[in-house]
Amino acid sequence: MSETIVQKFGGTSLGSVERIDAVAEIIKKASKKNKIAVVVSAMSGETNRLIDLANSFGNNPDKREFDALVSTGETISSALLSMALHSKGIKARSFSASQIAIRTTSSYSKAKILDVDAKKILDVLENDTIPIITGFQGITEGGDITTLGRGGSDTTAVAIAAQINANRCDIYTDVDGIFTTDPDIVSNAKKLDSITMEEMLELAGQGAKVVQTRAVEFANKYHVPVRVLSSFNDGSGTLISLKDESMENALVSGIASQKDQVKFTLHSVGDIPGTAFKILGPISEAEVEVDVIVQNVSIDGKTDFTFTVSNEDQEIVKKILSNIKDEINYKELIINPDIAKVSLVGAGMRSQSGVASKAFKALSENDVNIQIICTSEIKITMVIKEEEVEKAINVLHEEFELDK
Ligand code: ADP
Ligand code: ASP
Ligand code: MG
Repeated sequence: MSETIVQKFGGTSLGSVERIDAVAEIIKKASKKNKIAVVVSAMSGETNRLIDLANSFGNNPDKREFDALVSTGETISSALLSMALHSKGIKARSFSASQIAIRTTSSYSKAKILDVDAKKILDVLENDTIPIITGFQGITEGGDITTLGRGGSDTTAVAIAAQINANRCDIYTDVDGIFTTDPDIVSNAKKLDSITMEEMLELAGQGAKVVQTRAVEFANKYHVPVRVLSSFNDGSGTLISLKDESMENALVSGIASQKDQVKFTLHSVGDIPGTAFKILGPISEAEVEVDVIVQNVSIDGKTDFTFTVSNEDQEIVKKILSNIKDEINYKELIINPDIAKVSLVGAGMRSQSGVASKAFKALSENDVNIQIICTSEIKITMVIKEEEVEKAINVLHEEFELDK
């Protein structure tokens, strides 16, 4: 029986006319057996080019116009890919977010998908036509264009798969699947045949950009099986499995890192109820995601409060902290953009101890200083100096024998 599959193609997969032709071949082949709906990213480099262009008239462009501009890369790829399919005798139609009503919240550049006109997509499929849908784009209730954040086409694809009840979402990219860590950083990183949803949620959340975090959240919530595979090489890729089928979970399945981080420390704030809320409340109201949060033990009723946010939110957080300075009454604000996070993820950590001390020992033997340590059930995150990230990942990858 034929299945319905959503195929998503990333920027590198669509990086040139030749690549678009190669992708059209993949779709053509798959469409012989199954019903295929396609989601596309912008051609590689295009979104960055548009972001640069948006900064032509000062580096604080209007948010609505910014999204209207940077969303256009996906429009180009969808129409081009549709043309490539036509040239092979395949029926295809391009669709923008407004044409299939990908409704989102109105937070420009980090909009969240609310719903999609599934009927429209199903009608196209019913007509034996392949819909080629723009990823990354959304539309507000009022009809304005939004975007879903970098890497957002993954989320479009999984959301559409969920809404049309697809059997699977295949995310085609420039690597053979999900690896134990970014293969660009560790040359002998190993491709995984499968990974659990909860491990992938942590890896993506901690910076493994191979799939956008929101996409994994959608897959988890709506039970969409997701496969990550290459559009360059044949292979079965990596399945993000809904069920944890392995008898024994790996102690460490993967390592993720994130560089675009900045650390804020409020030195000597009062250790009294409500302080954390007074600091983080207005930050979350401004829709800034706060990552690692630590508060030290207090000495003489004073403590240090530290947290990290994404680099792009540095200015807004600075502004908020200066607005609340009198209320919070901190002595000094220390801002350190020279940091990065390295995270070890593994479902086996839940039942076995010793991972943290093994990691700390390996890093200390290699002179990597850990500034903050933060753990969850299946994850250990360490904040270190940005320039030491590659070294730290290589050391940890070897220590936990992830290449084996
Ligand atoms: P696309 O344009 O297809 O969306 P991305 O550049 O967003 O591709 O994501 C693919 C990249 O993710 C890979 O080229 C790789 O460098 C990086 N990456 C980071 N962590 C991992 C990982 N654990 N496994 C595979 N790739 C990873
Ligand atoms: N084109 C967008 C970006 O570069 C979305 C995506 O590729 O998923 O972030
Ligand atoms: Mg991507």
